[in-house]
Amino acid sequence: MRACFAFAASLVAPPRCVVCKAATGPRNDLCAHCEAELQASRPSLVAVPGVDVAWSAARYAGVAGGLVAAIKFGHLLPPASRAARRIIEAAPPALIDGTVVPVPAAPLRLRMRGFDAAEEIAHELSRLSGCRMTACLRRADGPRQVGRPRGERLASPPRVTVRGKAPREAVLVDDVVTTGATLAACALALRGAGAERVVAVTFASSEKRLALRPGERSLWERDERRDRADRDQRTQPRGHR
Ligand SMILES: [Zn+2]
Repeated sequence: MRACFAFAASLVAPPRCVVCKAATGPRNDLCAHCEAELQASRPSLVAVPGVDVAWSAARYAGVAGGLVAAIKFGHLLPPASRAARRIIEAAPPALIDGTVVPVPAAPLRLRMRGFDAAEEIAHELSRLSGCRMTACLRRADGPRQVGRPRGERLASPPRVTVRGKAPREAVLVDDVVTTGATLAACALALRGAGAERVVAVTFASSEKRLALRPGERSLWERDERRDRADRDQRTQPRGHR
């Protein structure tokens, strides 16, 4: 019945790739080219304080960036579902084990959008993995993380609280990780409310955080060091530069 309906709909409006708008099959949200690019995306690990393992399925660029935009700004469910499927396809099997917890959006932004990318991906991840989901985190309105300088984001993470009891083993889910400040705030709140294991899975990760250089113990420390160096340079008197 559903297939018949999809076929009938495809006669009226031919299905298009949600990322590049090229024509695609009635059952495909992505065209063959975008699908191949997504399949070739490389997962990465991100160092986040308080999170045992922070794993991301793809680099935040190209098709992955297009899917995130379609979810976040197009408010579309099929790309959220495709992002969740990609996470399941590429994640180490033992990683998604516990209770799925979406990273909460700030209340004002959620009210304005009426659609929460992290929650939609988390829902689908819960359905596909069989892990239950609890939306137990709340986030206070505060300065937007997106578009703020890295140092500012790290210095003033969002305020996150737990409503009720935290799951013992939590799998935090978000669409994108950039500095990790939001994931760290969520992990801190969960651990404060009794969580013993906190892992994080995100669909996309910003490219800069992919690899450690020799001698670096964590990406987090590297960022801290870089921010400090930036600050020192800005505050030094002219003659000393
Ligand atoms: Zn495409």
